[in-house]
Amino acid sequence: MIDYKGRFAAAIDALHDEKRYRVFADLERIAGRFPAAIWRHEGEAREITVWCSNDYLGMGQHPAVMKAMRSAVAAMGSGAGGTRNISGTNHPLVELERELADLHSKEAALVFTSGFVSNEASISTIARLLPDCQIFSDELNHASMIEGVKKSGCRKAIFRHNDVDHLEELLKAADPAKPKLIVFESVYSMDGDIAPIAAIADLAERYNALTYIDEVHAVGMYGARGGGITERDGEARRIDVIEGTLAKAFGVLGGYIAGSRDVIDCVRSYAPGFIFTTALPPALAAAATASIRHLKTSQVERDSQQRQAARAKAVLGAAGLPVMASPTHIVPVLVGDPDLCKKASDHLLEVHGIYIQPINYPTVPRGTERLRITPTPFHDDALIAKLRDALVETWQAVGIAFANAAKPAEPARSRVTPLVVSQAGG
Ligand SMILES: *Cc1c(COP(=O)(O)O)cnc(C)c1O
Repeated sequence: MIDYKGRFAAAIDALHDEKRYRVFADLERIAGRFPAAIWRHEGEAREITVWCSNDYLGMGQHPAVMKAMRSAVAAMGSGAGGTRNISGTNHPLVELERELADLHSKEAALVFTSGFVSNEASISTIARLLPDCQIFSDELNHASMIEGVKKSGCRKAIFRHNDVDHLEELLKAADPAKPKLIVFESVYSMDGDIAPIAAIADLAERYNALTYIDEVHAVGMYGARGGGITERDGEARRIDVIEGTLAKAFGVLGGYIAGSRDVIDCVRSYAPGFIFTTALPPALAAAATASIRHLKTSQVERDSQQRQAARAKAVLGAAGLPVMASPTHIVPVLVGDPDLCKKASDHLLEVHGIYIQPINYPTVPRGTERLRITPTPFHDDALIAKLRDALVETWQAVGIAFANAAKPAEPARSRVTPLVVSQAGG
């Protein structure tokens, strides 16, 4: 007899033993009051502040986005009605794809039900359509990209993170006659570092490889119109496929790729993960379009996010907290132990009403467990000061090392700067 129950229980026990069993906080976001939320726990409901949201610019509660979603629901109802092939291609989705192609200065774009699905379906399909293709993949690529690489069934070579010399070595060693696909991200979300896009594009030209970039943690936030790091660096034209999400800075749901008409048509025509699933509902498409359009012309959210992220890094660093260096909006604070990381997160929530999810293995390497803080335009200076005081108290209470054994600074009072971004109830 096979003990099914016992096997599942053992799998869960293993996670507990490794201190990486995940617990989800029961949250209720409050429209118009981002980043405040209600936390339900042990029969109580408490208002807390979320410091780890990927709704990076608060667009999920932007009046224009909410209005677009409500209008589309009123006009077209809730669901899409089918797969794209069977009655699921609604006009808002057609408009959204035009908007995305324009955002990345590409001929065409294709929307999926999530960024995860877009990576898995697109990478596997593009590589499969190129017989004998070899995939060159950054070692820190997201799980969805790894799934795409695996599913392609192609030979793969993993290059050291952001290491162009290693990538070149691998490209050089490959058969010049065989197709090559380089897959990488622009902003890596756990360290907040940025890929050397121009150098990778140079190598792709030299070795005749296609390039596929995941800009999930950059779209909406970088570039003059929110087209990501490829737009900021003027490299979008040199990258064959740009992938992004509608669920993070754009604040809605869905994923996409943008590229040449031919590549997009191939993925549309060959990818099971695109073909055999119901389309994104019209209201989500309309909301995403409103969000993208807003961020194409409005710079204030991007500026405020950068300002508040820089401020958070400076204020937490000055208090002796081990802020890990990052050139982006992501503020990782090193804990270095899974148990302490979980304890710090629980303590912050229970004692200070501050929610920051612990980031443990396998999301990050063992020994680099951390709290990953994502300041948005709505995390004002007063919230940052509160966060600093709460972190310092937590570091002491839980027993986590400060940076360079520096003594924590006295919690100083900081001036509250009013933010330019308004957030009406919509
Ligand atoms: C979140 C994430 C995805 C998946 O996007 P979703 O729209 O949330 O499915 C893809 N790539 C990276 C790097 C991500 O962090």
